[in-house]
Amino acid sequence: MPHIEREELTPEESDQLLLLPGGHPPLWNHMDSIGSVRLRQREGAPGCSQEGLPCPSDSSELVLECLQQFKVTETQLRQIQASLLGSMEQALGGQASPAPAVQMLPTYVGSTPHGTEQGNFVVLELGATGASLRVLWVTLLGIEGHRMEPRSQEFVIPPEVMLGPGQQLFDFAAHCLSEFLDALPMDKERLQLGFNFSFPCHQTGLDRSTLISWTKGFRCSGVEGHDVVQLLRDAIKRQGAYSIDVVAVVNDTVGTMMGCEPGVGPCEVGLVVDTGTNACYMEEARHVAVLDEDRGRVCISVEWGSFSDDGVLGPVLTTFDHALDRESLNPGAQRFEKMIGGLYLGELVRLVLAHLAQRGVLFGGCTSPALLSRGSILLEHVAEMKDPLAGAARVHAILRDLGLSVGASDAELVQYVCAAVFTRAARLCAAALAAVLARLQHSREQQVLQIAVATGGRVFERHPSFLSILQETVMLLAPECDVSFIPSVDGGGRGVAMVTAVAARLAAHRHLLEETLAPFRLDHEQLAAVRAQMREAMVKGLRGEASSLRMLPTYVRATPDGTERGDFLALDLGGTNFRVLLVRVTAGGVKITSQVYSIPEYVAQGSGQQGILLNWTKGFNASDCEGQDIVCLLREAIGRRQAVELNVVAIVNDTVGTMMSCGYEDPRCEVGLIVGTGTNACYMEELQNVAAVPGDSGHMCINMEWGAFGDDGSLDLLRTCFDANVDQASINPGKQSFEKMISGMYLGEIVRHILLHLTSLGVLFRGQQTQRLQTRDIFKTKFLSEIESDSLALRQVRTILEDLGLSLTSDDTLMVLEVCQAVSQRAAQLCGAGVAAVVEKIRENRGLEELTVSVGVDGTLYKLHPHFSGLVAATVRELAPRCVVTFLQSEDGSGKGAALVTAVACRLAQMAHV
Ligand code: ADP
Repeated sequence: MPHIEREELTPEESDQLLLLPGGHPPLWNHMDSIGSVRLRQREGAPGCSQEGLPCPSDSSELVLECLQQFKVTETQLRQIQASLLGSMEQALGGQASPAPAVQMLPTYVGSTPHGTEQGNFVVLELGATGASLRVLWVTLLGIEGHRMEPRSQEFVIPPEVMLGPGQQLFDFAAHCLSEFLDALPMDKERLQLGFNFSFPCHQTGLDRSTLISWTKGFRCSGVEGHDVVQLLRDAIKRQGAYSIDVVAVVNDTVGTMMGCEPGVGPCEVGLVVDTGTNACYMEEARHVAVLDEDRGRVCISVEWGSFSDDGVLGPVLTTFDHALDRESLNPGAQRFEKMIGGLYLGELVRLVLAHLAQRGVLFGGCTSPALLSRGSILLEHVAEMKDPLAGAARVHAILRDLGLSVGASDAELVQYVCAAVFTRAARLCAAALAAVLARLQHSREQQVLQIAVATGGRVFERHPSFLSILQETVMLLAPECDVSFIPSVDGGGRGVAMVTAVAARLAAHRHLLEETLAPFRLDHEQLAAVRAQMREAMVKGLRGEASSLRMLPTYVRATPDGTERGDFLALDLGGTNFRVLLVRVTAGGVKITSQVYSIPEYVAQGSGQQGILLNWTKGFNASDCEGQDIVCLLREAIGRRQAVELNVVAIVNDTVGTMMSCGYEDPRCEVGLIVGTGTNACYMEELQNVAAVPGDSGHMCINMEWGAFGDDGSLDLLRTCFDANVDQASINPGKQSFEKMISGMYLGEIVRHILLHLTSLGVLFRGQQTQRLQTRDIFKTKFLSEIESDSLALRQVRTILEDLGLSLTSDDTLMVLEVCQAVSQRAAQLCGAGVAAVVEKIRENRGLEELTVSVGVDGTLYKLHPHFSGLVAATVRELAPRCVVTFLQSEDGSGKGAALVTAVACRLAQMAHV
């Protein structure tokens, strides 16, 4: 043993020293007043430094200088916070070069738990707890606030496995799994496993994850760049004992966040300080450039352990950090983690103690082989030694085990060192957390961010002072955030089970959703069949044979040629409004003055004193009109008023009006289409094809009344049970089959019936039926437009649905969106198949290789739905490739059109007269 002579400290000096361990108040404030630590050593003692021994005043300066290096000022913390936030945002935005200082890896965890998750799950943890591997059996009860303790077993990973071939590591894991399961008296059929793999990974799915680089003392060959889930699956298969489905792979931060019991609000940040350190949080998916997803949220693993910014970290790094990095398995990497993670705190303390010993300040200037070997001081030691009460005694015991002889004043100095290293770690961690909070506050656009942070890892679990320093510093750096810290349960294992359960639930729900929506997704063959059936029905209708298409001649024989002139009065009875228009057609164009009257329901469904109306559609059901000549009804009605003298020249339906009004601007417009409350189409047919009207030359506009297409059963194969429900509840069951799959009056209803069905399956709204959703017509077709609008944030979609009394999760919102998309897409595609049949017929009528034609369109659904018109056009391109079709939206369509029909009729009459 070295022979050491020591001068004792004065009582005041001892007091000042004793104030400090425990971490508060910060050490350096007191260090300035520390007097001298006087040490003297005899020369020549073995294992002890011989040269450069400090004189008494030097030694205190040496300690001061050493510990001063661990001080991080508030300004430095703020710089770290700002720099990390900047890097996070660059990484989210997809910046490639220069590479951002953090990776921001999407984890494919898209929703936090409902609290209703249930079932048995196996969890395998690798990398969460240092050099050990843990297997857990977690039972989720599905009742909020009720928990069952998981069963778990920890296996120490031999060092040669941690550094050996990857296959050996995964075989070891599979072996531990079956050893654990062998001992369990549970039913082990169809096991679902959540894999907690806490290393930086590039995840491409919930069950696909490629290791980027080993950290935390692992370095197995042949794993980096490979899918770790596949490696585990292969090993389980090789083991062969159990059939286990690896459902999800998560890191410990995600497990920590997901396992957290929801408090006032959901817990949306996970923070882990164990061997290493990392955090995750729920980010808006649209902010994550690498994801092709603009809805919902996704959990992002910040991977802040690798944060490096020479500008802000450089001044904070001590000579000891540099030494630690040089000796580590991954020099130059994970610099931030190496100041915070539990794997490194003991090592930093060791380096400082060795330095001070070598400089003669500690242990009488003597070191020991143990003190000079890597890894001899562990996180546990640091925590025990810095304990304000029992610490001093532990210092003696721990250091004596390292072969050091500890003097009375050494113990306190060692405690300072531990506290300095530990406090710095907590403050740096707080700066990083403050960056995440700032990010959340920004993306949520909230003034005051109220958020729960789940904390996990052994540093939090065993060293409560870490949390208190962290909390204090976060309050300083992010005063506008109201943060509650919630310790994780079961070391994150429950969270991994939760992710697995959520994944299993989502997969089951997705399957049901897909199954429900599958009949709405029409493929090319189905749409081509609709086109062909439509064509057949058109031909039969024109010939006067039985057909669901009436193909009514309108006696409109020409589209406008631009020479029409005069003043015309038009009456327009639409689905919702009755309009009177004065249309003045001059050489300068068409000028319209109009007055709109809304139609009271008692009129729409009352007696019909107002062509020959064949039957009411679109919710009209006035009596005494069907089969009567509308022109006569109108003439009589005008006669009853006896106010003005009018000549009723033509009766035009809105479809024809739309075609004519667009035709005034574009002579190629020979098709009219309406997709509003109802749907219909008209087009210019060869007169010779129209059996009902004599004549072999010229054209005639045919009102297809295509809403009734399929009333003969030809669409039955496409019709879903939801269409049947809507039809049954309508005022005209069995009629207007095509219209009921396409138009505004019905799409909201179809969606509502699908939502009811999915709720009954438990897929939506947690299976809770609401009275409001059972109310007919409560789900407006305009909601489809709003929900499907790209510019609308998910939050606004939620508001629409919440106004319907539905309480929903973000998964619900996405599913409702998918339902709306499926219904409106089918509507647009069916409509497109119809238009394709029409334009193809015109092309063939004229014997053309290629037809260029325009379609005049009106109707609010067509005009206001964000994707409807695009889908119609795309379908027409697909099904009528030899037609070049332009869609023109009519303005003031039907009224102007009616006037133009009259104008054209007058022009043709004058020509005949001449
Ligand atoms: P009509 O067909 O009755 O003459 P419109 O063309 O204005 O009149 O169509 C009205 C129908 O359009 C409504 O019944 C409704 O179903 C639908 N609708 C209204 N607003 C929207 C919207 N924003 N998006 C899609 N459809 C809508």
